[in-house]
Amino acid sequence: MKNKYVFLFDEGNQQMKTILGGKGANLAEMTRAGLPVPEGFTVSTDACKAYYEFERQLTADILQQMKEALHQLEMRSGKKLGDQSNPLLVSVRSGSVYSMPGMMDTVLNLGLNDETVEGLAQLTNDKRFAYDCYRRFLQMFGDVVLGIPHYLYDNALLEIKREAGVTSDPELTFEHWMRVITAYKNITIKETGEGFPQNPFDQLELAVKAVFDSWNNQRAKVYRKAHQIPEHLGTAVNIQLMVFGNMGNDSGTGVAFTRNPSTGENTLYGEYLINAQGEDVVAGIRTPEPIERLQEQMPEVYHQFQNICQQLENHYLDMQDIEFTVEKGTLYILQTRNGKRTAKAAVKIAVDMVQEGLITRDEAIMRIDPNSLDQILHRGLDQNAHMNIIAKGLPASPGAATGKVVFDANLAQRLAHQGESVILVRPETTPDDIHGIIASAGILTSRGGMTSHAAVVARGMGKSCICGCEEIKIDLQAKQFKVHSYTIHEGDIITIDGGTGRVILGEAALVDPEFTDEFKTLLLWAEDIKEIHVRANADNPQDAKISRGFGAEGIGLCRTEHMFMDSTRIPIVQEMILAESTPERLKALERLLPIQQNDFYGIFKEMQDLPVTIRLLDPPLHEFLPSVEDLLVKVTLLRERKENPSDLLQLEELLRKVQTLHEFNPMLGHRGCRLGIIYPEIYSMQVEAILRAVIQLKREGIQCFPEIMIPLVGHVKELSIMKRVVHQTAQRLMEEEKEHVEYTVGTMIEVPRAALTADEIALEADFFSFGTNDLTQTTFGYSRDDAEGKFLSYYVDSQILDHNPFEILDQSGVGKLVKMGAELGRKTKPNLKLGICGEHGGEKSSIRFCYETGLDYVSCSPYRIPIARLAAAQAVLQSGRAKTETSQL
Ligand code: PEP
Ligand code: MG
Repeated sequence: MKNKYVFLFDEGNQQMKTILGGKGANLAEMTRAGLPVPEGFTVSTDACKAYYEFERQLTADILQQMKEALHQLEMRSGKKLGDQSNPLLVSVRSGSVYSMPGMMDTVLNLGLNDETVEGLAQLTNDKRFAYDCYRRFLQMFGDVVLGIPHYLYDNALLEIKREAGVTSDPELTFEHWMRVITAYKNITIKETGEGFPQNPFDQLELAVKAVFDSWNNQRAKVYRKAHQIPEHLGTAVNIQLMVFGNMGNDSGTGVAFTRNPSTGENTLYGEYLINAQGEDVVAGIRTPEPIERLQEQMPEVYHQFQNICQQLENHYLDMQDIEFTVEKGTLYILQTRNGKRTAKAAVKIAVDMVQEGLITRDEAIMRIDPNSLDQILHRGLDQNAHMNIIAKGLPASPGAATGKVVFDANLAQRLAHQGESVILVRPETTPDDIHGIIASAGILTSRGGMTSHAAVVARGMGKSCICGCEEIKIDLQAKQFKVHSYTIHEGDIITIDGGTGRVILGEAALVDPEFTDEFKTLLLWAEDIKEIHVRANADNPQDAKISRGFGAEGIGLCRTEHMFMDSTRIPIVQEMILAESTPERLKALERLLPIQQNDFYGIFKEMQDLPVTIRLLDPPLHEFLPSVEDLLVKVTLLRERKENPSDLLQLEELLRKVQTLHEFNPMLGHRGCRLGIIYPEIYSMQVEAILRAVIQLKREGIQCFPEIMIPLVGHVKELSIMKRVVHQTAQRLMEEEKEHVEYTVGTMIEVPRAALTADEIALEADFFSFGTNDLTQTTFGYSRDDAEGKFLSYYVDSQILDHNPFEILDQSGVGKLVKMGAELGRKTKPNLKLGICGEHGGEKSSIRFCYETGLDYVSCSPYRIPIARLAAAQAVLQSGRAKTETSQL
């Protein structure tokens, strides 16, 4: 039997992707579903393989079958290839099994020549249009099929426009197009040594060969290699009848979504133009009509279109984005695909479709990209807003904000109190700036990464933040920043989009977040499915409340140093850090104790019966002390002025102390439990504050579950020493207060040695929490403050790394340590509670990893909790699927 190389659309179906390519199978499927798709046929991937086997020739079989298919097309359409009065015109498109950039571009209006163009002019009653089509065809065919550089065509067109004294294409007349056509034909002769092929079947043969050739062009090869697409698959070619929407007032063209892509409402949404072709809609020369008007203008077509939309949704079980054309009262569907939509619409459509019985809850859960929920949870940019983007930084905390540029935290606070919206712009932020961060609508820094102080704090507050925007050159003295040719002064308005890292000049329209009923429903469904718990990283009662509202099942990380980031508290913390004797330190701690107790009381009260993990102090000292440089400047100025000698003395003393504590590598310095080991009184005070708050609430009838966590442990002895401090303090307190309180003591696993010796550490720990921010920093040896701004984006851009490891857990490196830590820990204590509290706890692929590694919970900033809940449900569904797939193999 002869090989079949060519398939009419009604001979194929969706399952024949390997032989018809993705596009061909889709066109066949639409045809099979009874949709009015313009007739056509597919030259198969087998033909492509045969083409290469026969030294890049279309075999007689293939050519014969193409002729037969063409004949069918002519019979069915009543048009004829090359016919002067009623020419058959076709489009030619490549279509491989996997959608692949780099393949040959589409050729439209194939079949036009010096004679058929006249036929088209008569049929459309528009000479100018017909000749415009012809010149486009000459250029398109010359460029993509004959390989003539397109700039030659562009130059020729520019020249004719210049001579005609016009700047845009629509200003050119029919006569101009005739000249363009002559020029284009001359280009063909000059470049190929032959005239433009006038025989339509020759044109078709050349176009099909060009598609097959493009399978092996450099771009396609590189793409296949990068995406592991097998070389032998080959591509198919789709040849389809052209239809025209510009054949009079009974013709038209448009685009419609089966549901509203912005709100998700179940109503047709789209627009069309009468007597126009697709390009007119895109070019925006005429204003299209809303789709509902079609009901009045072409009631039958509208009705038919409505039914088709329904049919398509039922078939593809998703909202469709449909391109259609009406040619002389006959409706054609040119393309249908799953429509792009906003997050709000995606959620509504998914939930509605479950309620309409079209899809299951599991499918609805899987349809929503957890990251897209950021759009719902934060203020965002209006999709239609005009934007002048002047810089791009790291998308550190989602949400958009507009406000006046301010370079100083105090001024930010003052202006905010006066009701102004401000954006705090700093090289980087420190706890000294916290009041400014709280007061600002958004934060923009030129340094620092996704886990820098500004990023972590802003994320916790659900505030828009861009970090590491190295393009902007801040001059704090001159109160301005420069970026490219712009100079932005204090008081100028900018807009920042923390979800994408874009900095926009001036005010851009924003849209408020909205928690719809569908959003809540989807999260409830996710709750039913998910297995891993989701906790919050929250450091104050307000964040605890927000977290609970979002469905947090506890607090996985309360960073106690964050509680001190308040302008009234920072001086006391600095006093404590700078103290040069124990009595001096104890004095500062005494003042901190009631403040901390009060905070813990507030947090426990919000969380009530849920567990709260409190991490004892872990301040990398540089985050809490004034910088040596700043102090030096101040001291020098005071010395020069020779005024206020007592101020000068105080400042000199501060400078001396800060210089004593100066560290070259503060992130690897005297922080975490190392601080507790050297100054146990600090941790003891904190434990006292925690347990006093617990006792206070117990007496009010509220039960709390404190989990006391020791940071940065690298050796089991560090933990055992710190645990002793915790127990001794607790013992003393319980005796004093004559109350018994339950608590547990655990540790963070955030340096490689902790993961490597987790079996030993587990002997002393009630729980582990993987601190993957520091674990990433220490495993890679990348400073989390500097890497992202310096080399990391280059590493990602040039594919040395697949992702920024501070954002997405590096499963093969850092993840291996997490796995090892979990396994070793549970080898010692099978019921050891395991969690993660690095920023990865709110990231979907990392959550899946945590679930599959057997962690009990993930913990993330409050506004990421809904994202984590959805991702946790998806992790169950994905691994369920993965398991069935494996068992089928
Ligand atoms: C961590 O290192 O992952 C962590 C949660 O602690 P921090 O970010 O406060 O260092
Ligand atoms: Mg840490």
